[in-house]
Amino acid sequence: MNTLDVTKGVTLVDVRYLGSPGYIAPCILQDASGIAVVDPGPTSSLAGLEAGLAERGLSTADIHTLLLTHIHLDHAGATGTLVKRHPKMRVFVHERGARHMIDPAKLLASAQRLYGEHMNYLWGEFLAVPAENVTAMAGGETITVGGRKLEVIYTPGHAVHHVTYFDQVDGIAFTGDTTGLRPLNVPCPMPVTPPPDIDLEAWRTSLAAIRARRPEKIYLTHFGPNADVEWHIAELSERLEKWAEQVGSDVKSNRPEGEASADFAKTQQAILTERIPASAFGPMIRTEMLVSSWLGLARYWKKGQ
Ligand SMILES: [Zn+2]
Repeated sequence: MNTLDVTKGVTLVDVRYLGSPGYIAPCILQDASGIAVVDPGPTSSLAGLEAGLAERGLSTADIHTLLLTHIHLDHAGATGTLVKRHPKMRVFVHERGARHMIDPAKLLASAQRLYGEHMNYLWGEFLAVPAENVTAMAGGETITVGGRKLEVIYTPGHAVHHVTYFDQVDGIAFTGDTTGLRPLNVPCPMPVTPPPDIDLEAWRTSLAAIRARRPEKIYLTHFGPNADVEWHIAELSERLEKWAEQVGSDVKSNRPEGEASADFAKTQQAILTERIPASAFGPMIRTEMLVSSWLGLARYWKKGQ
């Protein structure tokens, strides 16, 4: 089964990213005219999304709206491909991400630097989205979609163009990567801090904004719903601060980047292994991801120097 029925009318699809369950979960919100999808995922796992929809008697033709938390490839990669297939599809995205969906050249060039020859295998194609399909938001809007009213909360920190969608009536928040990762939904919240726009101060403010709404449940793109919101955010914040402190001291002491980032990845994997068996480490908690988290935090500290 690729779909998991969860509460409050939200259906989760496990797209089985790179064949691994428990890593990328678009959320399906159904209404009378079709469905809205929060973060469709990359094109490399579009077949997984289609399979999940098919199990519900749905197809991508039923999608009238894509709600992007942010434009990173693991969240928004399939957007252009879906819009090309179904040209009436609407795409909601923060205004600072909108231009990159319309012209992804710069986004793809920076991803290419990070992922090199693995780009296509990891993410698949990333097509431009026609400007007329895009609704750019600043945060503060309320949109009615998927049979519910969603408050758009601007939640930068992980990315400068990150938003969270909050349904006050049901007390649920779609938080993207602002509340970090919990792959396989194990109780081990961890941040993900890739370049280029990690911002600790902004991130703290964003987490406070989410907590202030007192959501009963947060839906993480990686992975799924969590009802232990206070605990989750506290754990995540603590780990984020520790990571930042570690990388900050590496940067201050001018440790060679390769050496410091490899050490960081090794230490973090050892900590994770206490909670998750190393054999369960899938595509989202590989060494490369932790190295890229070191680089993202290092960039943050260097900007402030
Ligand atoms: Zn992500």
